[in-house]
Amino acid sequence: METCIFCKIVAGEIPSAKVYEDGEIVIFKDIHPMAKVHLLVVPKDHYRTVKELTPERGEVLARALKKVADLAPSLGLGNGFRLVVNQGESAGQTVPHLHIHVLGGEPLGWE
Ligand code: AMP
Ligand code: ZN
Repeated sequence: METCIFCKIVAGEIPSAKVYEDGEIVIFKDIHPMAKVHLLVVPKDHYRTVKELTPERGEVLARALKKVADLAPSLGLGNGFRLVVNQGESAGQTVPHLHIHVLGGEPLGWE
């Protein structure tokens, strides 16, 4: 998707503060952090919501979550973290490329 900002980050066409990358995913810092540590886990494959999940895409997400858990201590998330996936307009999804917010680095409230 040539107009998708996360596809442009995946392609290296615009800069991001990457903390991890492999053939399937990239993890970078959110530009407007909502917690002391706020990362975005982005599959390189462009699709919008979990409605477009396939078994293969689901396996990529499962590996991505395991990677986050493995990297958590080195990312400042050793005391725990929150995963958020906004789906659609009412949930506040602003980027139409599936992504998982990872929040932590401090005690988090629940509003
Ligand atoms: P959502 O509102 O769930 O679609 O989340 C999109 C997130 O992407 C927001 O938290 C934005 O702050 C973040 N974001 C948008 N553009 C960039 C960018 N160029 N680099 C890093 N994060 C971004
Ligand atoms: Zn995209």
